[in-house]
Amino acid sequence: MTDLFDKHRHIAERHQRMLQLGVNAVGVTNQRLLSPTRAIIDGRETILAGTNNYMGITFDPDCIAAGKAALDQFGTGTTGSRIANGSYSLHKDLEAELARFLNRKHCIVFTTGYQANLGMMSGLAGPRDTIYLDADSHSSIYDGCTLSGAKLVRFRHNDAADLDKRLARGEEDGGGRLVVLEGIYSMLGDRAPLADFIEVKKKHGFQLLVDEAHSFGVLGPNGRGLADEAGLEDEVDFVVGTFSKSVGAIGGFGAGNHPLFEYLRYAMRPYMFTASSSPASIATSIAAIRKLAAEPQRRDRLRENSARLFHGFKALGLDMGCDTVSPVIAVKCPDEPSTIAMWNALLKAGVYVNIALPPGTPNKLCLLRCSVSAAHTDSDIDRIITLFDSVVAQGHGKKVVNG
Ligand code: PMP
Repeated sequence: MTDLFDKHRHIAERHQRMLQLGVNAVGVTNQRLLSPTRAIIDGRETILAGTNNYMGITFDPDCIAAGKAALDQFGTGTTGSRIANGSYSLHKDLEAELARFLNRKHCIVFTTGYQANLGMMSGLAGPRDTIYLDADSHSSIYDGCTLSGAKLVRFRHNDAADLDKRLARGEEDGGGRLVVLEGIYSMLGDRAPLADFIEVKKKHGFQLLVDEAHSFGVLGPNGRGLADEAGLEDEVDFVVGTFSKSVGAIGGFGAGNHPLFEYLRYAMRPYMFTASSSPASIATSIAAIRKLAAEPQRRDRLRENSARLFHGFKALGLDMGCDTVSPVIAVKCPDEPSTIAMWNALLKAGVYVNIALPPGTPNKLCLLRCSVSAAHTDSDIDRIITLFDSVVAQGHGKKVVNG
């Protein structure tokens, strides 16, 4: 008899190898949270530089008060999906708030961002349609594509000419065409060259979805994401986003202006067949989105902090994930053992970053990935740079330099 776990033995072996090098890099426990940028890990106060808490909003008193009030008024959970159990007024308030923030006619919220991609992709595309995906797309986008049953065509990362070529070849079997991009790519921190893709859209005609998970609340004069920053929102048909990053809660959304958009609610299994988000989470999301709208200085602060870290790393000669400043700042490392060793040394010295290893990374890269927060102070950023200098640029593992 084949043990169903046989296929997972390599995971166990890899895990053991990782443990021999120190702490379990993918199983860190935050024993206590002190603030959006500080936690006690392994008994030590640690600077958090890998949380995606871009706005540092998780301890905001107004958001916390909104969550507590919702617990009191609506209870701990919704105990079912909105289709089966009905919506709470809070869900509708959140959808209205978001539609206003995004300047879109329609908005549907999901329990997580992952489900938002599963839902939107499988709602928009079916077995006769074709989805064109950037090769570096997030797993939730790939999984959404699988769930849809649509034909999948991958184009080279951020390469509009490659998409153009593939569309010209007519690889689809009839049906509609959906192209999916991301605002900021989660691993390397680079942006989609949206204007180039929109040129291709004008030439070939397709519907365009942008996942703004890492750029919602972060980019653009209104904080609506990459399309807002690029002044190209009218060319983007559908937006996906999450509440787990700049909003500091949990949940996701899809938005658009199509007159039939609302009917997606009855076509998306990840919306219909799972419980809706809890009242506290919905209420904190509403409060946080109001703050994102009312307090653009948070975005300015995030931009300053991101530039400070980016240029600090550049000055150390580190090999970075991309050439543009964003709150996602990744450093390329030579190989898996040295990356794990460096990650452990950083943690011991008091800074938590993400470790990202193949197969979860583009081009099989080994990365130490930082995410910057508006709540980091200048001295936090400088401390992170100093520690990367002592741990990554010198001492541990091979020296990691440009070229
Ligand atoms: N899209 C992208 C690009 C992401 O990076 C993520 C999460 N890292 C998601 C979607 C899923 O969001 P959530 O964590 O809210 O499920």
